Amino acid sequence: MKDIKESVKIETSHNEPMNKNQQNKSLAFQCVICGYIHMGATPPKSCPICGATDDEFEVYEQTMAMEEEKATQFRCLNCEYIHQGEEAPSLCPVCGLDSEHFEKVQQTAISDYVEPLEHIVIIGGGIAGVSAVETIREYMDTVKITFISGEERLPYYRLNLTRLLGAQIGEEELCIHPQYWYDDQRIQVFKKKIVTDISPSKKEITLNDHTHIHYDKLICTLGAHPFIPPIEGANLPHVISIRSIEDVHSLLEDVTKGQSVLVMGGGVLGIETAGALASKGYKVTIAEGSKWLMPRQLNEEAAAYVDKNLRKLGIDIVYNFITTQISTVVVASDGRQLEADSVILATGVRPNTYLARKAELEVNQGLVVDNYMQTSDEHIYAAGDITEHYGVVYGLWNIAKYQGRIAALNVLGKKVPFGGVPRSNALKVLDIDLFSIGNFTLVDASYTALSKESEDHYLLFVFKDQIIVGSIAIGYKHLTHKIKARIEAKQQFTSTQLNTIDSVLEVILNGGKA
Ligand SMILES: Cc1cc2nc3c(=O)[nH]c(=O)nc-3n(C[C@H](O)[C@H](O)[C@H](O)COP(=O)(O)OP(=O)(O)OC[C@H]3O[C@@H](n4cnc5c(N)ncnc54)[C@H](O)[C@@H]3O)c2cc1C
Repeated sequence: MKDIKESVKIETSHNEPMNKNQQNKSLAFQCVICGYIHMGATPPKSCPICGATDDEFEVYEQTMAMEEEKATQFRCLNCEYIHQGEEAPSLCPVCGLDSEHFEKVQQTAISDYVEPLEHIVIIGGGIAGVSAVETIREYMDTVKITFISGEERLPYYRLNLTRLLGAQIGEEELCIHPQYWYDDQRIQVFKKKIVTDISPSKKEITLNDHTHIHYDKLICTLGAHPFIPPIEGANLPHVISIRSIEDVHSLLEDVTKGQSVLVMGGGVLGIETAGALASKGYKVTIAEGSKWLMPRQLNEEAAAYVDKNLRKLGIDIVYNFITTQISTVVVASDGRQLEADSVILATGVRPNTYLARKAELEVNQGLVVDNYMQTSDEHIYAAGDITEHYGVVYGLWNIAKYQGRIAALNVLGKKVPFGGVPRSNALKVLDIDLFSIGNFTLVDASYTALSKESEDHYLLFVFKDQIIVGSIAIGYKHLTHKIKARIEAKQQFTSTQLNTIDSVLEVILNGGKA
């Protein structure tokens, strides 16, 4: 906490003293869990959206960069540090290289140019779509905006469905903007309308009521759907997955306390769902196919801490459980059987690419976008869980929101790139202070790792060619924003700094300086 406040008073996001212009601007903080932006000199005590504590807030760098609209920027070619100013600094404050190693960056400044457009249509009422409409209105008052959602409700905080399930929040707290916000912004919202066709040649979409809507530019934010594994019994009525408010309601209606619930999948969603149900008195078992929990986000050592905490909540966990059949019992390939009155599938998501494929846009795992979030059709952009950006399908809230903004800026002709970001994860419904980011697997000899652990703490740093590329931190809440900043800045460490984990920590605590 103290660290964040101090860094705001004396530093910009990249550890440069603030210039007068920046000091006069109001400051902003972003919740690293849900992306909520809080305007003010200090972070809020807790996030009004996802309940994260003030330690989970970091200085909102994007706001600062945006506000410095016409500032010239220089990027350090070694560590990607961005310097604001009319010339490159004599030495990079992050990695120490001299001004020769800086290149001029122009594209991150938002230009004043706005493409003359009459009608922008956004399809898909999730966070990526909301972020896109917010951004368009921020920069262009006149263009007609039509926002189409397949859901009955106005867009809501989907990432908080597990908190709704655990009764930590009520349904009324889920809505992102009330109807009057859209009215004030002159955004025409269609709810409960399914897009059935996209015609790039006619620049038109079709709805399930056969309405045709013409667009100048289209932003596809159709999100993703739960992956239903091809297992016998996966479509039985007592087998459910959670993606919408309706899913939460039907789960709470169908499953009565005392019944056994089997959560298939020990990833973030499975763990959060299990935790929410256990806190309400359900008898929960997690069946994970791998050797440990959260295999995409944690190594075995870190996962053991999560296992311990879940068991304290009364949750049973079985590993290497490859489900082959579901009925009133769930059967694994090795013959093990688990009783389950209800089964919750938390086995990942798949991008909603059906319409894009039909429209013959380039689709791989997701709808393929370039750095400008543009699809293979020049008038169609995309953002959020539907997208695949240079082989990466993120499936994360923060990134969907950020991509929505970038897509909108590019629709307006502003040429702002999305450079990709390391994936980061934190748990929000369990009382486990866990953060993981980037790569933590030692792929080959160019990777090294340093770690330390105690009863309730675990810390791991992973380096590739001495550049920090990943971390897992349990019990180090105060450090997460600093670790994230160093990984995003691709900080390079010297051999001496890599001697011990404590010397690495010192550099991280000093904001990247040795
Ligand atoms: C229970 C739960 C917990 C989560 N927790 C976290 C977390 O802690 N951290 C994190 O980073 N992420 C979390 N996520 C993931 C996060 O919510 C998603 O990454 C994010 O919501 C993606 O936003 P989006 O706008 O791309 O897509 P979505 O939120 O999926 O929105 C897409 C919208 O498009 C609509 N749509 C689809 N097809 C059509 C059509 N043909 N016509 C009209 N509308 C259509 C859908 O109905 C939906 O409203 C969680 C997800 C769930 C379900």
